[in-house]
Amino acid sequence: MTETDPSCWFCSDTVRTDPPPGGWLYADDLWRVGHTPAAYSVAGTTILELRRHAADEQAMTPEERASLGTITARLLAAVTEATGCDRVYRWATMDAYAHFHLWLIPWWQTSATRGPRYLMDSVNGPGATPEEALATAGRLRSALEVQG
Ligand SMILES: [Zn+2]
Repeated sequence: MTETDPSCWFCSDTVRTDPPPGGWLYADDLWRVGHTPAAYSVAGTTILELRRHAADEQAMTPEERASLGTITARLLAAVTEATGCDRVYRWATMDAYAHFHLWLIPWWQTSATRGPRYLMDSVNGPGATPEEALATAGRLRSALEVQG
């Protein structure tokens, strides 16, 4: 059932050369979840990917739309538990590909910036170290397993 675009970085294994640290953290028939590669953003940044190659809620099936809230809630709890953050920011631009990817980015009250500026800083900064990304991915995996 998975439709892929062979040129899409996210859904084509042959294009993507740097898989998520620690592998995919969660997968079902509709969704899969991974920590971003270390250099992409702060530790704990997590991507929810719609397995089917569709851009947004308009193009989702009723089942995909209905499950989006449930899986997002699980991820919000997991990112919070894994990072100790105060908020989980989200963004989804579908800029490079018409394929739904929701980024979840932890934010702390101690962060230097907030709001849209923080989103920019998080992806334009040095990112996480590979060790931080791997360790955080492990805590995310544990948090998701506990929620079952
Ligand atoms: Zn894709």
